[in-house]
Amino acid sequence: MSPDIEIELHKKYPKILGYINEDGSYRTRLWGFQCGDGWHQLIDTLCASIQARAEATGVEVQVTQVKEKFGALRFYIQGGDDHIAGMIDLGEELSSKICEVCGKPGQKKNTQGWLITRCDAHTPT
Ligand SMILES: [Zn+2]
Repeated sequence: MSPDIEIELHKKYPKILGYINEDGSYRTRLWGFQCGDGWHQLIDTLCASIQARAEATGVEVQVTQVKEKFGALRFYIQGGDDHIAGMIDLGEELSSKICEVCGKPGQKKNTQGWLITRCDAHTPT
Protein backbone atom coordinates (compact mmCIF):
# COMPACT_ATOMS: atom_id res chain seq x y z
CA MET A 1 0.00 0.00 0.00
CA SER A 2 1.26 3.50 -0.72
CA PRO A 3 3.32 4.94 2.17
CA ASP A 4 1.23 8.14 2.36
CA ILE A 5 -1.94 6.08 2.88
CA GLU A 6 -0.22 3.98 5.55
CA ILE A 7 0.91 7.11 7.46
CA GLU A 8 -2.62 8.52 7.23
CA LEU A 9 -4.09 5.31 8.68
CA HIS A 10 -1.57 5.33 11.55
CA LYS A 11 -2.49 8.97 12.30
CA LYS A 12 -6.21 8.17 12.37
CA TYR A 13 -6.00 4.92 14.36
CA PRO A 14 -2.97 5.08 16.68
CA LYS A 15 -4.79 3.18 19.44
CA ILE A 16 -4.96 0.00 17.38
CA LEU A 17 -2.20 0.49 14.76
CA GLY A 18 0.43 2.29 16.82
CA TYR A 19 2.11 5.39 15.43
CA ILE A 20 4.68 6.18 12.75
CA ASN A 21 5.70 9.81 12.56
CA GLU A 22 7.27 11.72 9.69
CA ASP A 23 10.26 12.56 11.93
CA GLY A 24 11.09 8.85 12.03
CA SER A 25 9.77 8.13 15.52
CA TYR A 26 7.51 5.15 15.80
CA ARG A 27 5.85 2.65 18.06
CA THR A 28 3.94 0.00 16.18
CA ARG A 29 3.71 -3.74 15.83
CA LEU A 30 2.52 -3.43 12.24
CA TRP A 31 5.13 -3.26 9.48
CA GLY A 32 3.27 -2.14 6.42
CA PHE A 33 -0.04 -3.06 4.85
CA GLN A 34 0.90 -5.79 2.39
CA CYS A 35 -1.94 -5.27 -0.05
CA GLY A 36 -3.06 -2.90 -2.81
CA ASP A 37 -4.48 0.61 -2.46
CA GLY A 38 -7.90 -0.59 -3.69
CA TRP A 39 -8.67 -1.86 -0.21
CA HIS A 40 -7.87 1.49 1.42
CA GLN A 41 -11.50 2.40 2.22
CA LEU A 42 -12.31 -1.11 3.41
CA ILE A 43 -9.32 -1.09 5.79
CA ASP A 44 -10.08 2.49 6.90
CA THR A 45 -13.67 1.51 7.77
CA LEU A 46 -12.57 -1.66 9.54
CA CYS A 47 -9.98 0.25 11.62
CA ALA A 48 -12.57 2.92 12.52
CA SER A 49 -15.02 0.26 13.72
CA ILE A 50 -12.38 -1.62 15.72
CA GLN A 51 -10.97 1.53 17.33
CA ALA A 52 -14.50 2.70 18.26
CA ARG A 53 -15.22 -0.68 19.86
CA ALA A 54 -11.92 -0.58 21.77
CA GLU A 55 -12.66 2.94 23.06
CA ALA A 56 -16.24 2.08 24.03
CA THR A 57 -15.37 -1.11 25.92
CA GLY A 58 -11.76 -0.63 27.01
CA VAL A 59 -10.79 -3.91 25.33
CA GLU A 60 -7.13 -4.00 24.27
CA VAL A 61 -6.46 -4.68 20.62
CA GLN A 62 -3.35 -4.28 18.45
CA VAL A 63 -3.22 -4.94 14.74
CA THR A 64 -0.19 -7.12 14.01
CA GLN A 65 -0.39 -7.95 10.29
CA VAL A 66 -2.47 -6.86 7.29
CA LYS A 67 -1.92 -8.59 3.97
CA GLU A 68 -3.45 -10.17 0.90
CA LYS A 69 -3.65 -13.96 0.75
CA PHE A 70 -5.47 -16.08 -1.85
CA GLY A 71 -7.09 -12.93 -3.25
CA ALA A 72 -8.58 -11.81 0.06
CA LEU A 73 -7.65 -9.52 2.92
CA ARG A 74 -6.07 -11.11 5.98
CA PHE A 75 -6.25 -8.91 9.07
CA TYR A 76 -4.45 -10.19 12.16
CA ILE A 77 -4.78 -8.76 15.66
CA GLN A 78 -3.72 -9.47 19.18
CA GLY A 79 -6.43 -9.03 21.81
CA GLY A 80 -9.93 -7.92 20.85
CA ASP A 81 -13.21 -9.71 21.52
CA ASP A 82 -15.88 -11.67 19.61
CA HIS A 83 -17.46 -8.44 18.36
CA ILE A 84 -14.16 -7.33 16.77
CA ALA A 85 -13.54 -10.83 15.38
CA GLY A 86 -16.92 -10.56 13.62
CA MET A 87 -15.99 -7.19 12.10
CA ILE A 88 -12.78 -8.69 10.74
CA ASP A 89 -14.64 -11.70 9.28
CA LEU A 90 -16.97 -9.33 7.45
CA GLY A 91 -14.09 -7.17 6.15
CA GLU A 92 -12.13 -10.18 4.91
CA GLU A 93 -15.25 -11.52 3.18
CA LEU A 94 -15.99 -8.15 1.53
CA SER A 95 -12.43 -7.85 0.22
CA SER A 96 -13.07 -10.70 -2.24
CA LYS A 97 -15.63 -8.48 -3.99
CA ILE A 98 -13.47 -5.31 -4.24
CA CYS A 99 -10.68 -4.79 -6.80
CA GLU A 100 -7.40 -4.70 -4.85
CA VAL A 101 -5.94 -2.21 -7.35
CA CYS A 102 -8.68 0.45 -7.68
CA GLY A 103 -11.45 -0.28 -5.15
CA LYS A 104 -14.21 -0.78 -7.73
CA PRO A 105 -16.44 -3.87 -7.63
CA GLY A 106 -14.43 -6.95 -8.51
CA GLN A 107 -14.38 -10.67 -8.15
CA LYS A 108 -11.96 -13.40 -7.28
CA LYS A 109 -10.11 -14.71 -10.32
CA ASN A 110 -7.59 -17.44 -10.95
CA THR A 111 -4.68 -16.05 -12.99
CA GLN A 112 -1.96 -18.54 -13.82
CA GLY A 113 -2.53 -20.35 -10.54
CA TRP A 114 -2.78 -17.20 -8.42
CA LEU A 115 -6.03 -16.10 -6.82
CA ILE A 116 -6.54 -12.35 -7.09
CA THR A 117 -9.52 -10.03 -6.70
CA ARG A 118 -9.82 -7.56 -9.56
CA CYS A 119 -12.28 -5.58 -11.65
CA ASP A 120 -12.32 -6.36 -15.38
CA ALA A 121 -10.01 -3.42 -16.19
CA HIS A 122 -7.30 -4.65 -13.79
CA THR A 123 -7.45 -8.34 -14.68
CA PRO A 124 -4.15 -9.34 -16.31
CA THR A 125 -4.61 -10.95 -19.71
ZN1 LIG B 1 -9.74 -2.29 -10.63
